[in-house]
Amino acid sequence: MPRPPIERSVAGVPRITLFKPAGVPARELDRLRLAVDELEAIRLVDLEGLSHERAAEAMGVSRQTVGRVLERGRAKVADALVGGKAIEISGGQYRVEPRQLRCFACREEWPMRDMGSDAASCPRCGSDDVTVCRGPQGRCGRPGGAPGRGRDQGNHGPRCGGIDA
Ligand SMILES: [Zn+2]
Repeated sequence: MPRPPIERSVAGVPRITLFKPAGVPARELDRLRLAVDELEAIRLVDLEGLSHERAAEAMGVSRQTVGRVLERGRAKVADALVGGKAIEISGGQYRVEPRQLRCFACREEWPMRDMGSDAASCPRCGSDDVTVCRGPQGRCGRPGGAPGRGRDQGNHGPRCGGIDA
């Protein structure tokens, strides 16, 4: 009997779920389906700059799985861009686990609402010195995987596990 698939933890689902080439009627377009977990792997590695190891931690899967999911996602994006195909983002093996974000300047905490750019700055003071304070497994880490400025210990939020990623 096959094992049930492991769900991959994603920070959110995208607001925009359909991309199509301009000026081509939809009926003439091939449409690819990019799974939400494939997009999450691309987001974490290609956009946020995380290593496969860190991305695997964030998604709660092995490094091999992240590598596989990432390659599949990249191939679809490349196929769509080169071949002029539409991309629909839907499906996949995932569960949504919103990340908790924290501002280093004013210590405000807020949940990441979706995969958009609202992760980039503090809603209270506007500082962009923010960290992902709690992801899956209660880990802290800076978006982008960049090392924190100085010692981050003792700078975790009250709802955070306080573990540096
Ligand atoms: Zn702030």
